[in-house]
Amino acid sequence: ADQKYDYDLVIIGCGVGGHGAALHAVEQGMKVAVIEGHDIGGTCVNRGCVPSKALLAAAGRVREFKNQQHLKSMGIQVGSVSFDREGVAQHAAQLAAGIAGNLQRSLEALGVDILIGSAKFVGTNKVKYGITGRVDVGGEVTAKNIIVATGSVPFVPPGIPIDGKTVFTSDHALKLEWLPQWLAIIGSGYIGLELSDVYTALGTEVTFIEAVDNLMPGFDKEIQRVAQRLLIQGRPIDYHTGVIATKVTPGVPGVKPVVIELTDMKTKKVVDSLEVDACMVATGRSPYTNGLNLSAINAETDRRGFIPVNEKMEVLDKDGKVVPSVYCIGDANGKYMLAHAASAQGISAVENMNGRPHVLNHLSVPAACFTHPEISFVGLTQDAAEEQAKEKNFPLGISKTSFKANSKVRE
Ligand code: FAD
Repeated sequence: ADQKYDYDLVIIGCGVGGHGAALHAVEQGMKVAVIEGHDIGGTCVNRGCVPSKALLAAAGRVREFKNQQHLKSMGIQVGSVSFDREGVAQHAAQLAAGIAGNLQRSLEALGVDILIGSAKFVGTNKVKYGITGRVDVGGEVTAKNIIVATGSVPFVPPGIPIDGKTVFTSDHALKLEWLPQWLAIIGSGYIGLELSDVYTALGTEVTFIEAVDNLMPGFDKEIQRVAQRLLIQGRPIDYHTGVIATKVTPGVPGVKPVVIELTDMKTKKVVDSLEVDACMVATGRSPYTNGLNLSAINAETDRRGFIPVNEKMEVLDKDGKVVPSVYCIGDANGKYMLAHAASAQGISAVENMNGRPHVLNHLSVPAACFTHPEISFVGLTQDAAEEQAKEKNFPLGISKTSFKANSKVRE
């Protein structure tokens, strides 16, 4: 390491972004420390991708075995299907814990120092970390380069008190502590959709509450149409669109319902009130950038809490100038809030700090929604592509094909 500093690179936050950056930096011969305030693996491993995909895998099996008619058409007979909620939940939790352990061991094996505590800037190249109320952990470290990889937490709109039992976010839903008979899901993005897939397969009825006029905002319109047919119709799902939940009153599981007041987006008038067993808030994610003391490096977050960066992942200060040697990757910069984008940005940041200019083409980063069936996309959505092509007077060609033409997907 550069003698002037304790480390060549200190990474604040050890989710998938921080982990990916650490591994790449070690490969470049750098001396690296990660500082983690909560749990190694961050959202993706502990409260995101990993447990949700484990639950989706179980849900997919249940749905498949429940579809006796289809199985019969393939010459397969099975008895009635049953599952045990606790077992399903435990499987997901164990899978997550196993992967978190692997991540930790991979860092230790490569000689990355893992420092425990919440970190904040105390100056350029200097970070302080610790746990409130604990004098035995923490300290101050200096680093030639610093990467902020602090991720995100569920965004909860005002007026919605989270009790973690009857009104909850994906953080609680993934623990599958109980199976409400009727679950309202506020927001129909990929997190709401994936969890609707899990819960409906396990017997819960779902009602989506969506602020815009159609489900799945942000998805390509044609995908929305097909998904509506495949993921909503024929399942115990209904929905209210063009409304927002302005007030949610928590209930008591099995005793008192959750009451949700719905307000029309256009008229701003209360139009309906729902009584459900539980309500999941899936209205997006907020960057987790509080407490970083960015003023110590003359930087600040934007209005929504994201840390501004340029295309090299370098943090920009209050005047839009590069803060030397400080980078921000992953959900905290809001450029593309997906796990593989976070680690790709981490690699990019490490390349840049080593003097090899590197810019990630976010349009080439694929995204997926792991419902049954799955949805995936890459590049501009068709709607955006058409608009942008017209704006630029590009000739536009559209080619469509159906997966049905591929015998591999026929069952
Ligand atoms: P995180 O994984 O959030 O990690 C940040 C870490 O920083 C945390 O461990 C946190 O404790 C720590 N930290 C924060 N502040 C400090 C501080 N001051 N000091 C020290 N440590 C700190 N993405 C996909 O690509 N595919 C999927 O299938 C997928 N499924 C998802 C399902 C759900 C339900 C959710 C919620 C998310 C899903 N995502 C998925 C998104 C993915 O989880 C995130 O994009 C990814 O975790 C972002 O990684 P990150 O490293 O930026 O942040």
